Amino acid sequence: MTSVADKRPLATRPDPGGAGSTAAEQAREAIERARAGDPRALARLISLVENAAPELRPVAKALAPLGGQARVIGLTGAPGVGKSTVTAALVAAYRERGQRVAVLAVDPTSPFTGGALLGDRVRMQDHATDPDVFIRSMATRGHLGGLSQAAPQALRVLDAAGFAVLLVETVGVGQAEVEIASLADTTLVTVAPGMGDAIQAAKAGILEVADVFVVNKADKPGAQETVRDLRSMIAMARRGTDDWKPPIVTTVAIKAEGIGELVVKVDAHWSWLGSSGQGEARRRARAREEIAAIAVAELRRRAGGLPGDSRLDDLAGQVAEGKLDPFTAADELVAADAAAQDL
Ligand code: GDP
Repeated sequence: MTSVADKRPLATRPDPGGAGSTAAEQAREAIERARAGDPRALARLISLVENAAPELRPVAKALAPLGGQARVIGLTGAPGVGKSTVTAALVAAYRERGQRVAVLAVDPTSPFTGGALLGDRVRMQDHATDPDVFIRSMATRGHLGGLSQAAPQALRVLDAAGFAVLLVETVGVGQAEVEIASLADTTLVTVAPGMGDAIQAAKAGILEVADVFVVNKADKPGAQETVRDLRSMIAMARRGTDDWKPPIVTTVAIKAEGIGELVVKVDAHWSWLGSSGQGEARRRARAREEIAAIAVAELRRRAGGLPGDSRLDDLAGQVAEGKLDPFTAADELVAADAAAQDL
């Protein structure tokens, strides 16, 4: 589906940054180290993404030709259903296949970064010393452009760093879940028996985005009812045009039961993405969203004006006084910005 990764050392390739500036050199050096398996270089690159640092631009340039190899698997579901237990079991399963795995845990509501979210997750500790597993929490609250801007860039970093499987886990049900689904090649929606989760999921609109359903805690009473509920809700919710029928896998993640079957279904979905052309279509849709999110954030930043920039204030005064309508004011702002960019 995508071209084979260029494994030559970065130094021997044409300069993707073009100018060969110091920033570009530093970016390439950091990426080179991350690709060689240096977790600190990788963590620093992700911090650049999180902070939307100016150095992100040369980094993004250098990353562009390196990616496209990883599979992105999104995990969504209400808190407590066992997402992180499923994630940890999946990490073990992919490691058994010899694949390098990165976990990105996204908490759209938390200002905490760098492990606060996963630090106390005992099951993740099993993988803490494995150099081929990278685990990172990412907070996106207050991030310009939010989840839609930070997470895809972090995935690009991890992809370029050579991780074959990228697991993206979110906390909570809602908009963030749907956003995560738009980032993933394969989206797993996890529910547990007796929590009304299937109904919650239906309400949150995530039935439509599921590629594979996981009914976890199958050791608890009510698992079969949950499977039945889901089956009928899927039948009602999905009148989709594609020919992928999301399978339902039951798991007992604390005992790794059903995880092998889950991996098989995820593989089947991956094959379908390739054969149907949907994989390519999703990646394009993702890139479109990414560009739009960056462009909108950039426009917002410019429209907000720099300190001492009075253009927006001036227009705001005119609109507040009824001298100008907000559409004309917005046009003027955009036109003035475009003129300034041409200078
Ligand atoms: P998350 O909030 O969705 O990430 O859920 P966690 O993975 O933190 O799991 C929540 C709780 O459910 C923990 O106490 C887990 O040990 C437990 N749990 C996870 N999977 C299973 C399972 O398959 N069966 C049972 N009985 N408990 C589970």
